[in-house]
Amino acid sequence: MDIKVPDIGDFSDVPVITVLVSVGDTVEKEDPLIELESDKATMEVPSSHAGKITEIKVAEGDTVSEGDVIMVIEAADADAAEDKADDAKGQGGQQGGGYGDRGADARAAPEKVEPAGSASGQGDKHAEVVVLGSGPGGYSAAFRAADLGKKVILIERYPSLGGVCLNVGCIPSKALLHVAKVITEADEMGSHGVSFGKPKIDLDELRSFKDGVVQQLTGGLEGLSKGRKVEVVRGFGKFTGPNMIAVEGDDGTTNVSFDQCIIAAGSEPVELPFIPHDDDRVIDSTGALELKDIPKRMLILGGGIIGLEMACVYDALGSQITVVELMDQIIPGADKDLVKPLMTRIKGRYENIHLKTKVTNVEALKKGLKVTFEDDKGESFTDTFDKVLVAVGRKPNGKLIDAEKAGVKVDERGFIAVDEFQRTGQSHIFAIGDVVGQPMLAHKAVHEGKVAAEVASGEKRAFDARVIPSVAYTDPEVAWCGLTETQAKEQGIKVEKGVFPWAASGRSLSNGRSEGMTKLLFDPEDDRVIGAAIVGTNAGDLISEVALAIEMGADAVDLGHTIHPHPTLSETVNFAAEMFEGTITDLMPPKKK
Ligand code: FAD
Repeated sequence: MDIKVPDIGDFSDVPVITVLVSVGDTVEKEDPLIELESDKATMEVPSSHAGKITEIKVAEGDTVSEGDVIMVIEAADADAAEDKADDAKGQGGQQGGGYGDRGADARAAPEKVEPAGSASGQGDKHAEVVVLGSGPGGYSAAFRAADLGKKVILIERYPSLGGVCLNVGCIPSKALLHVAKVITEADEMGSHGVSFGKPKIDLDELRSFKDGVVQQLTGGLEGLSKGRKVEVVRGFGKFTGPNMIAVEGDDGTTNVSFDQCIIAAGSEPVELPFIPHDDDRVIDSTGALELKDIPKRMLILGGGIIGLEMACVYDALGSQITVVELMDQIIPGADKDLVKPLMTRIKGRYENIHLKTKVTNVEALKKGLKVTFEDDKGESFTDTFDKVLVAVGRKPNGKLIDAEKAGVKVDERGFIAVDEFQRTGQSHIFAIGDVVGQPMLAHKAVHEGKVAAEVASGEKRAFDARVIPSVAYTDPEVAWCGLTETQAKEQGIKVEKGVFPWAASGRSLSNGRSEGMTKLLFDPEDDRVIGAAIVGTNAGDLISEVALAIEMGADAVDLGHTIHPHPTLSETVNFAAEMFEGTITDLMPPKKK
């Protein structure tokens, strides 16, 4: 079978920078085959099938466009059969792939799961379950296993528990986004006849508010560990055998032996090679959350969720923001109509938003960081900023832990493949969270952590979630779950939709923010809801109702006939179902069913 370059946006003749496989290699579906050049980040072309590579038709330095054949694969039997079945149905896998959402069947599974290896001796400490990494995935796994009666050791390299999410991710960013929201709402009250003065920002106070929130939560985790008798061993852990991890801490090495282990090592920001690293004006999300100063002009390199959330914070604090994004829209992967209200709002607030544009160079000058951009027509231009925030994605930490010494496979990117029981290729070693794959989200890590802990404790449990909601906590918020319209089009899946514009919502108008939209996608066969996309204030809270509806197999009548409180934004879910049914009375019905 030929493997072709998929839709890569409006780009053509994109250089191949790395060929990641050789003839004779066996690959899984979705394994990366080649990397295409983008000066902002690299794009990987994944394998469309599992099987053996029999011919490679491109070399590093070649250029490729959508549809070009890059390799030939002898597809594995199961994969070829599945492919035929899908062809027969006229559709690809329903929930698979895509940024943000992924069905249980879309995970890369280990080639085979080996029975538990023989114990490599007793360590300085021993636990029935050892969890490596204390992020949301790790601490949830550790606590759940302890609650199920296991003796648990939790290994963490940093003094503070909670991982990226609690220390330098979800929580501090949301504390600052709340402040940003209050500032912009107060400012916009002017048009409602209420004016406040220009905000005075005390950065030290603001920083200590944010740090206080983080400390409250991470301190709470220490208490919860003690309460459950989960021992925390501090230091950097690496496998030394199938049942042993050596932890390098301040007091030397502690060898921790285990019966079972859950790897929850998380991820870290991707760095770009052509950007100065030793200049404190170049920051990543962790640096942005430190809130050292409020730069006058700030470049956000990457129009994804993390970059746009930080843009929202610094814009409210007074920075002039420029966003640069390689793809043709912000939040690539989300439906275009979904991100439009956000795009319209930030266009009006930010200095510049450069789409289809890449950064080719950043020069550190005394007066600022001189950035060279190149647009999709190949034209270059420069601009100078006081700070550059690099937010081009995150890479898994799988390569840092010597997993191979325990027989656990880590792919070229640092991901660890797991099956639906969160087991790696070794039946006594599990992996969860960012280190097992996209979407890199805390709630996915927590869910997987609980699955792993329960399976390790002998419970009947597997990862079978239908949806993993994605949310950008921008202003307005953007949220989606299940199938997107873009995926439906790409995969040839027939859907019908109900769309309710918030301009007709009494609550939204009362809030002075009517730009939102609630869109539900239905399976035309049985009217079951299979996807949802919401943009508007509090969209992140609203999406949970539809996530539950999809998990429960609810249909349009279920959503349309559930009495929602009035006037709330949650009614928009009800109304979107009614738009699909043709029973709406707050607007003209779009069609009769
Ligand atoms: P992590 O949180 O990365 O934790 C891994 C832990 O393992 C770390 O504490 C690390 O120190 C430790 N560790 C790693 N290797 C070792 C080792 N060898 N020895 C000892 N310890 C080790 N997600 C959301 O769902 N909602 C959001 O709003 C959100 N906002 C975000 C905002 C920002 C700015 C960022 C950067 C991320 C955000 N995320 C958000 C993503 C979320 O933080 C991650 O998906 C989540 O933290 C992953 O959890 P995890 O348990 O897999 O790993």
